[in-house]
Amino acid sequence: MRPEILFQLFSPVSKLKGIGPRLTALIEKLAGPNIIDLAWHLPTGLVIRHQISELTPEFVDRNVVVALHIDHHLPSRNRRAPYKIQCEVGVQSLTLTFFNGRENYLRQQLPEGSDRLVSGKLEEYGGTYQITHPDYITTREMAADIPLSEQVYPLTAGLTNQTFIKAARQFLPMLPDLPEWQDASLLSREGWTGWRESLLAAHAPTEEADFSRDAPARARLAYDELLANQLALELIRRSMKRKPGRSLIGNGKIREKILRALPFSLTGAQNSALSEIEADMAGAHRMLRLLQGDVGSGKTVVALLAMATAVEAGAQATIMAPTEILAHQHFNAIEPLATEAGLSCLLITGRLKGKKRTETLEALASGAVDLVVGTHALFQEDVKFHDLGLAIIDEQHRFGVHQRLALSAKGRDGKGGVDVLVMTATPIPRTLALTAYGDMDVSIIAEKPPGRKPVDTRAIDLERLDAVADGLGRKLAAGERIYWVCPLVEESQVLDVAAAEERFAHLKTLYGDQVGLIHGRLKAEEKDATMRRFMSGEISILVATTVIEVGVDVPEATVMIIEHAERFGLAQLHQLRGRVGRGGLEGTCLLLYAPPLGETQKARLAILRETEDGFRIAEEDLRLRGAGEILGTRQSGLPEFRIADLHDHSRLLAIARDDARLVLEKDEKLGSARGKALKTLLYLFERDSAIRYLSG
Ligand code: ADP
Ligand code: MG
Repeated sequence: MRPEILFQLFSPVSKLKGIGPRLTALIEKLAGPNIIDLAWHLPTGLVIRHQISELTPEFVDRNVVVALHIDHHLPSRNRRAPYKIQCEVGVQSLTLTFFNGRENYLRQQLPEGSDRLVSGKLEEYGGTYQITHPDYITTREMAADIPLSEQVYPLTAGLTNQTFIKAARQFLPMLPDLPEWQDASLLSREGWTGWRESLLAAHAPTEEADFSRDAPARARLAYDELLANQLALELIRRSMKRKPGRSLIGNGKIREKILRALPFSLTGAQNSALSEIEADMAGAHRMLRLLQGDVGSGKTVVALLAMATAVEAGAQATIMAPTEILAHQHFNAIEPLATEAGLSCLLITGRLKGKKRTETLEALASGAVDLVVGTHALFQEDVKFHDLGLAIIDEQHRFGVHQRLALSAKGRDGKGGVDVLVMTATPIPRTLALTAYGDMDVSIIAEKPPGRKPVDTRAIDLERLDAVADGLGRKLAAGERIYWVCPLVEESQVLDVAAAEERFAHLKTLYGDQVGLIHGRLKAEEKDATMRRFMSGEISILVATTVIEVGVDVPEATVMIIEHAERFGLAQLHQLRGRVGRGGLEGTCLLLYAPPLGETQKARLAILRETEDGFRIAEEDLRLRGAGEILGTRQSGLPEFRIADLHDHSRLLAIARDDARLVLEKDEKLGSARGKALKTLLYLFERDSAIRYLSG
């Protein structure tokens, strides 16, 4: 239950005076539904107003406060013309201009013949000075009403800065004095004040430096947020580890057979990842490990060997993929090796139906099956294992945190928890891994199998698209295969599909039946069928939207063409490029772009040409774009940060991680004074669900 001291902060913004239904809807979209969301909506600018008594060119385009005498009103003749009011400043003239101005209101505020004090941005228009929509109108006696400096909030159409300022005037005095949850020595070392004081200061900047992410008030609030995140993850992690684990120790016999059947030997990176995994499996605690490895780094075989160890130890193992195609691909890669080593291996997807399904589930429940490859279908209630020991989840970012917990619940009562290994091909910058997967241990395969040639990556003007299309014939003649990826069209799947269909028709006129099409609106079966035809070589050019992004392995594919590459994220481009040049043949990646490119877009394409190091690319991506976009916040279960910035505050994140671990080591029930205050912090940043994991 949320502590009472936070009730007011979590009441709806409509409780504030002057915020009716229209503004509520706008604020909800921009900041969030509650007063606390307004509190986190920090200003990003500052207006400085100059008091002037004479109009001079040097003040044009600046904010001024000026006393004026109202001469006469010039109501607008038609709806589009502005309402003007002619005024005098000493001997000079100034026009006040209002678009859609209401006459009654303006005559009441600015009566002819009276004196007023107004503020606003001074402009020069048609040879005269003017102020459009003054932000304050008052009398000389009430000059103090116009602040000489004022914070500016991030806005959206329909919301004015004054709305936020008025709201802030109401809720800032309401901020409760919360018990301090930060360590006193950290506060003094960093020069930070308390939460309330910091929040007040963050809303009352007086100079540019106050907006910097290092400004003490902002840094303190960012640290609060990061600590809440790390504490929540650490609570989950501790609770998982506290559950009795199970020691899975193999005798190496099955592994040996698989290794002998492989046409290659493992790389050093694969071997060390495997030892880390096996040490976890052997340990008495539950494994929760993330295996990161760039596309093509060889995660599948590591997964298979870990599963073999589980089977040697007498348990079953499963690997789950995010799509049907990938599940099939894993099955095709794993099944022959497994069979060779004497293991029985089955596939479970949503397509498995009727008698076949019943038989499969029976074999699974009786223990006749050792390994299961599957999709989400594995989550179904009636899928029961005889004795699941190891669950591997591939391409994690398509699954949420809750799903990885759900799968680990498929273990057998009394046997202890299922060991969980999550594999991702999205190289995640260290900082992101900490916030999204802080509850897991991490292994990294940084080295690629030997013999891979770098992919020849080129940026090409879209104008040369026809020449590119014409040139594909040579590759086809050599038996090579080509991906042609069409862009996201403003997040609209309908338009995406239209673009892909158009390109498909175009290439078909050139290459006939050798061209296939795959996009997100096709049924899973249709996608699978087309993908299989591409794998088998029945078709050689695959036109696609980004559905091919994840994991698909076609060794003969050598060319990746990406239309409107400037619209894709860096990590996404890297993933796409990773689809080619896997079979020993040299790969080519053509990034077709529409000029002119912005600075960021140029930088993106340049990095891609420069390196194939997924981690470097991911770091750059984080720098250029920000965290949410990289993994797609919604899909990944990645937390959204209100104040903290994962790039700028990475130093604070590392401190928060250590802090969270230390706190829970000393006070695992959060029962001390600081512990109780930290619970309030978790509620404040809406990490309520983590509180369930508090022990006892
Ligand atoms: P990913 O990490 O993207 O899932 P895969 O496991 O699909 O990568 O491996 C990519 C390709 O590299 C596969 O064809 C696999 O057989 C091959 N491979 C894996 N490990 C090695 C290795 N040590 N030496 C040579 N080839 C390897
Ligand atoms: Mg893979």
